[in-house]
Amino acid sequence: MGDSSDTTADQLHRRGLMFILSSPSGAGKTTLSRMLLAKDPEIRLSVSATTRPPRPGEVDGKHYHFVSPERFQAMIDEDDFYEWAEVFGHRYGTPKGMIRAGLKQGQDFLFDIDWQGTQQLYQKDQQDVVRVFILPPSIDELHRRLHSRATDSAEVIAARMERARAEISHWDGYDYVIINDDIEVCFDKVRAILEAERMKRARQTGLIPFVRGLMV
Ligand code: 5GP
Repeated sequence: MGDSSDTTADQLHRRGLMFILSSPSGAGKTTLSRMLLAKDPEIRLSVSATTRPPRPGEVDGKHYHFVSPERFQAMIDEDDFYEWAEVFGHRYGTPKGMIRAGLKQGQDFLFDIDWQGTQQLYQKDQQDVVRVFILPPSIDELHRRLHSRATDSAEVIAARMERARAEISHWDGYDYVIINDDIEVCFDKVRAILEAERMKRARQTGLIPFVRGLMV
């Protein structure tokens, strides 16, 4: 979409991508997201905008972009969100402008979001989105993992299991599905997907000048 490769010395410039990791709670998404952010310098977490006031220790621009309700409304009016939602009386959204600017510069963004957020992002920007779904190896194992958070009551665990089942039912809205038997093996697969997606011809905007250089 109008993305021209530039004249810089960076011949192999590429367009960034939006890497979505979804899974039911307990299947390993949060751990995988942390591992990816720690090991891969080219990807960073997408930072949402919110009208919620910062909690102690939260940093503007890192945990959220903290904005006033008026500013948030203006961003809605300017169509500056991929998606937004109201949660417990505060508004949260994924700002388009900042992400688009990053993608153009080759920055990859990680999204740790559910199937609804995934659908909304995909509808707005199919070419940049890569959707990965993580499944638990079995329902028993999922139950065991949800149980191992010792602080939760039986009702909380039952409610989580129900939500997990609902989330799993959306597995077919993803490009890739990984069964998380072993977190290290699963992580290697996540990285393999990311590496392969980065090499897609359409994303490697620097290929045209590079190949032109090979032909002279
Ligand atoms: P918290 O205020 O505890 O940081 O987040 C409250 C809720 O808002 C969480 O369930 C979180 O997933 C959700 N949330 C955070 N950012 C976004 C966003 O950009 N879009 C949507 N739809 N929900 C978000």
